[in-house]
Amino acid sequence: MALGFTGMAMMGVQFLLTARFQHASAPFGIDVIYFFHRYLALIAISLIFVHYLIIRINYTEALATINPLQAPWYMTAGRTSLVLLTILIITSLWRKRLRIHYEEWRMLHIALAVMAFLLALNHIDGVSYYIDAPAKRWLWTGYILFWLVLIVYVRLIKPWKMRSKPYRVVEVRLECCNSWTLALEPEGHDGISFKPGQFAWLTLRASPYHIKEHPFSFSSSAAIQDRVEFTIKELGDFTSTIKQTKVGEIAYLDGPYGVFSIDRYPNASAFAFVAGGIGIAPIISMLRTLADRNEQRSLLLIYSNNRWDDVIFNKELEALKQRLDLRIVHVLKDPPTSWTGESGFITPALLKKVLSNDARMYEYFLCGPKPMSDVVQQGLFEIHVPMSQVHFELFDLV
Ligand SMILES: Cc1cc2nc3c(=O)[nH]c(=O)nc-3n(C[C@H](O)[C@H](O)[C@H](O)COP(=O)(O)OP(=O)(O)OC[C@H]3O[C@@H](n4cnc5c(N)ncnc54)[C@H](O)[C@@H]3O)c2cc1C
Repeated sequence: MALGFTGMAMMGVQFLLTARFQHASAPFGIDVIYFFHRYLALIAISLIFVHYLIIRINYTEALATINPLQAPWYMTAGRTSLVLLTILIITSLWRKRLRIHYEEWRMLHIALAVMAFLLALNHIDGVSYYIDAPAKRWLWTGYILFWLVLIVYVRLIKPWKMRSKPYRVVEVRLECCNSWTLALEPEGHDGISFKPGQFAWLTLRASPYHIKEHPFSFSSSAAIQDRVEFTIKELGDFTSTIKQTKVGEIAYLDGPYGVFSIDRYPNASAFAFVAGGIGIAPIISMLRTLADRNEQRSLLLIYSNNRWDDVIFNKELEALKQRLDLRIVHVLKDPPTSWTGESGFITPALLKKVLSNDARMYEYFLCGPKPMSDVVQQGLFEIHVPMSQVHFELFDLV
């Protein structure tokens, strides 16, 4: 029973972890919080299962019959909670393999978690061991009230605050191939103040109450607050509709979030950026911001794409060289025949060649597909760059 109580207390913390409180997530970054959420949930649910197994093996009579028509309601509530938690774990760990669409999964995840939690509370209340003393009852009532207030805040108050600060779409621009830039201006408020490299959750063509938001990195300069831009690659059902967005449409933002920013390392002697495809979005925001701040430090960009035509912000990057001490190394998987630059993928050997003896001088920012990010981290490790100087953003939270 002690294991059951511990698991339940940890389960409650999950709601806090995923509530996206900016101040709570600021020191770690949202990805670390979600990572923690995933593993803490696994531990909590394991404890709850062990609690059940111990009783099942040693005190079978305490479980009574499994038949819901004859069993006490609180025992059925406990069993149902266990089944829901099992479904929750399976659909979360193997969502992609089970081909569950992200948005449907998210709604299912919230519904399963809330139902399992309420049923488990019901179970504890019905069994009523260890919560019969007034002090313990107060403790558990306070605990339940806390989570209810949190749910009201996250699902009602926070969306209401977002609704009171709308944005208007002022431009939809094709950058290249299948990537679009969406420009937004605040409507009747001061806008958002973000650090270059951070991201926000964007809601378009829906109310903030509908939980239909998607995370996107700001691609505009952080020095400009009255107009923000996101550069979005067509990938799935939401991102493929960006091109249909009309100027004048209303959008909502929840942010800023994230720790992937040069502003966290003001004393760095130089910055190196490694981007793959659309991973350039937060990096162009950092470069644009550095240019607006008249940055003097040495900058390096290693930018990997399939073909030359896929290179987003190609012309602007060239122009930025005039305003910054910026060296750009393009790496193309399928280069044109006349190409004299780097080709193939970014490899440890390529990093060694490009960085030569300067590797330890830079603070590194990596954004691109996971295999690229892994190879670059490995390559930097091999040339003795301290991992504390390597920061990365993955465009995937689960
Ligand atoms: C921190 C962060 C920053 C990002 N910045 C950019 C950016 O600047 N430009 C860009 O093009 N893309 C960015 N992405 C990726 C972008 O959020 C997804 O490509 C987009 O949400 C996919 O939605 P979809 O419906 O078009 O595709 P789907 O095919 O529905 O989803 C593809 C995958 O994207 C993820 N995803 C889908 N919906 C969501 C959601 N609501 N919340 C979280 N993840 C979701 C899931 O892993 C899913 O499997 C970023 C992602 C993260 C986590």
